Amino acid sequence: VVSLTNVHKSFGAIEVLKGVSFEVMPGEVTAVIGASGSGKSTALRCINALEKINSGEIIVCGHKIHDEKLERRMLRQDVGIVFQSYNLFPHLTVAQNIMLAPTCVKGLRKAQARTLAEMVLAQVGLAEKADDYPEQLSGGQQQRVAIARSLAMQPKLMLFDEVTSALDPHLTGEVLRVMEDLARGGMSMILVTHEMAFARKVANKVVFMHHGKVWEVGPGAMLDDPQTPELKAFLSNGL
Ligand code: ATP
Ligand code: MG
Repeated sequence: VVSLTNVHKSFGAIEVLKGVSFEVMPGEVTAVIGASGSGKSTALRCINALEKINSGEIIVCGHKIHDEKLERRMLRQDVGIVFQSYNLFPHLTVAQNIMLAPTCVKGLRKAQARTLAEMVLAQVGLAEKADDYPEQLSGGQQQRVAIARSLAMQPKLMLFDEVTSALDPHLTGEVLRVMEDLARGGMSMILVTHEMAFARKVANKVVFMHHGKVWEVGPGAMLDDPQTPELKAFLSNGL
């Protein structure tokens, strides 16, 4: 569903992605790991056409991201993205937050969108919170609502950028569990994460980025047997 081929991306004079290539197969969970500043978020943003690349090719669900004629609207329907900050609208209820895109972008009727909202809320274990406001929920619950909001667009691919990093440690588990359920359900996903145990357990593929390049790619077990000193150092020093 995703392929990056020799992707270069600079901000001004600073080259942040220096020829990044990797693939994600349908139903595959890919974890992107690496030190702060290695280019993980930039890579994810390029995949979702939030940043324009300087050279190389990115194909996502059949969309040529590097193409001038890219249909962003169509891409947005195929790809969901969830960030560290959940960005829910505080003046809307949980259900209303979720119904917004399906009604505005897809033209669903209110009743249909409501049914859909209830369905995705059940999927993230928050069926009973539909009519609460975001501020009434914990951080972990709000992040699960943000995931549900993405799911309501019925994407073919989900991108997650450190979705548990802003949460208290005791709230990360419930969010990781939702992502694990999604993975088991066959969702194609790319997640940038510092949760190594989660990456090892859930990811089919781990991509280790270092200084704007893909340094190592392999199955989760790769984390038990790093081949390069860079990955070894990253795993022992953490961030
Ligand atoms: P972290 O783990 O801290 O989130 P990351 O691997 O996600 O790090 P990126 O956010 O992709 O790293 O950033 C890579 C480099 O690109 C950094 O040096 C950062 O300062 C730079 N960078 C990112 N976005 C911009 C921008 N919009 N303008 C200029 N420089 C940027
Ligand atoms: Mg980042």
